[in-house]
Amino acid sequence: MRRPDEKIIPLASLTQGRAPLDTLQRPIHDLRISVMDRCNFRCPYCMPRETFHDSYRFLKSSERLDFAELLRLTRLFVRAGVKKVRITGGEPLLRPNLADFIGDLTSISGIEDIALTTNGVLLAKYASELKAAGLGRITVSLDTLDPQVFEKLSGGFAGVADVLDGIEHARRAGLSPIKLNTVIQRGVNDHTAMDLLAHFRGTGVIVRFIEYMDVGTRNHWKPEMVMPSRELAASIHARWPISARGRNYPGEVAERYTYDDGAGEIGFISSVSQPFCGDCSRARLSSDGSLYTCLFATVGTDLRAPLRGGASDDDLFEILRSAWSQRRDRYSEMRASLRDAAGLHKVEMNYIGG
Ligand code: SAM
Ligand code: SF4
Ligand code: SF4
Repeated sequence: MRRPDEKIIPLASLTQGRAPLDTLQRPIHDLRISVMDRCNFRCPYCMPRETFHDSYRFLKSSERLDFAELLRLTRLFVRAGVKKVRITGGEPLLRPNLADFIGDLTSISGIEDIALTTNGVLLAKYASELKAAGLGRITVSLDTLDPQVFEKLSGGFAGVADVLDGIEHARRAGLSPIKLNTVIQRGVNDHTAMDLLAHFRGTGVIVRFIEYMDVGTRNHWKPEMVMPSRELAASIHARWPISARGRNYPGEVAERYTYDDGAGEIGFISSVSQPFCGDCSRARLSSDGSLYTCLFATVGTDLRAPLRGGASDDDLFEILRSAWSQRRDRYSEMRASLRDAAGLHKVEMNYIGG
């Protein structure tokens, strides 16, 4: 029984301001911000043309969070534990004045790492500006060096040479390290993986192979199209011996390997064959301000309505703290049983960012 002088302390005030853990005791460490849902490519595994056609309704610019709103939310995510921010999309370099936003992000204390993922085509134009604004490193997506396969995989809006030129501009601007994201699909570009490695071995550019995932609902994913990392690693090892180096920190998505001959590092992101949900500490913010706690989520938490409706920082923090505390996502670990149930409603990757 309560003593008459005993104060009732509301639960919310006890937890307010604290970095939350989800139901599986996972903290928030990374924030991925999709600054733009549009893209200048139409990669069939992400934004197939038949869905993302000329009359597809993308967000209006007024529906996207502006930079001041994004910065305010980012500060609250940092209060919740975020140390690493990745800018993504859609194609983030289509967002006007992105370098200004990156410059402002660098002034938020608590952020230890800012990265950007891009298809690379606009790097020739923006690499120096991004570097000057304070961007440290960059990830460029490049699935193949074969011009025909590239055309098929990017939708035909640019050529391999444009991406290589973008990478060269990033290198000259001093963005380092440069990592490549290479999605391998069996029967589509697996036969070009060795050429890609041969090109980048010894250059300092780190190629990271990503298993093809069933993100969204539009890419006609089939399990047999996934090339398991172990199989790919074995073929690479047969040509250039490699050794496992583990992960840099718990929750890092890529498993690192180095060439035994000293030609550098490569990585494997094996979200299908070796899911890493147990350590997943990534939150995703869509361009219109919804928080998603999993790449395969079916619903998000709207932060834009309260943000634009006059909510205080504490109110907004409480919304995101509560969303994270209730998180129980582990889609990749339960893919087989969840796939059919989630299949129709999963959010698309261009909207929440990869
Ligand atoms: N447009 C930028 C780019 O391509 O780098 C940033 C956004 S894109 C959605 C981020 C990453 O997601 C890219 O590296 C892309 O290859 C990867 N991605 C997209 N769809 C994928 C899928 N179905 N499976 C695995 N990776 C995928
Ligand atoms: Fe665009 Fe990146 Fe998706 Fe390709 S993977 S369609 S470049 S957002
Ligand atoms: Fe994280 Fe969801 Fe991917 Fe699992 S499936 S690693 S919870 S994003």
